[in-house]
Amino acid sequence: MEDGQENCLGLLPLTLIASANNWKRSYSQVDSQISARRRQAIKSTKRIWEHQVAEEIFMTANSSGNCYLCGAGLVKSAMKNHILKFHKEDRDGKEDKDGQECCLLKIEGVYPKGYWLYVDIPMGKTLAALDSFLRKIWLECCGHMSSFFLPRHLEIGKSRKLGSFAVGDCFEHHYDFGTTTETVITVIGNTTRKTQKSVVRLLARNAPPALKCEECGKPAEYVGICFNDGTEHMYCDNCCDEYDENEFAFLPVTNSPRMGQCGYDGEFDCFEFDPESVTQNS
Ligand SMILES: [Zn+2]
Ligand SMILES: [Zn+2]
Ligand SMILES: [Zn+2]
Repeated sequence: MEDGQENCLGLLPLTLIASANNWKRSYSQVDSQISARRRQAIKSTKRIWEHQVAEEIFMTANSSGNCYLCGAGLVKSAMKNHILKFHKEDRDGKEDKDGQECCLLKIEGVYPKGYWLYVDIPMGKTLAALDSFLRKIWLECCGHMSSFFLPRHLEIGKSRKLGSFAVGDCFEHHYDFGTTTETVITVIGNTTRKTQKSVVRLLARNAPPALKCEECGKPAEYVGICFNDGTEHMYCDNCCDEYDENEFAFLPVTNSPRMGQCGYDGEFDCFEFDPESVTQNS
């Protein structure tokens, strides 16, 4: 507690602590006030987070998810083969003269790997489009900077086209250079699809991990960040009401590797799997 760097959580002014705990009522208003301090705080407590809350997600790096085209439920590794076998060539895309040749990408949290996506994106589109998509589905909290990197930390410009990568290439995306969320992207093949408006097409995604309230075992709705020691705890709506507002800040549980970091609340994530949409399409 004496060391501001080691335990900056304990040094937060009471007014800010109170603000942070009003999250459920007026989160957007306080976000700009707390984000800088939260960044510092979470950075110094990242290791605690990695070993406690996310352990469950760590254990299920090969977590299950759904194919958004046909609804198949499969684990991450099997989904790759499923897409290459059944969705490599969109039947409509093949006959469509304006069909789009795409790069098929597997995207995973570097940490934790239980969050994953499969998407395709036309060869002629750039990394900037992929950056926008990742912000929307997984990352955006307060407009932080982001970059793509090749192995050994070589930065790649966002104007680089997807078509310049070969199958097997691997690169990373980093969002926010304070409390960084790192994503690893692997080019796993090519697809042909019918021309569509959205540049990035979501093909498959992990199902939300079944995180439980550590008090009562019901599904967790909030990550509580303890101001004293920086530890993160999962609570349901009822149980988090029992905690002292001067001890915890709460962020919502989301299906994202950025859950619990900075002010991430999944505001732009509109990509929940809907079995109805699959039935209608097929
Ligand atoms: Zn499928
Ligand atoms: Zn932020
Ligand atoms: Zn509970």
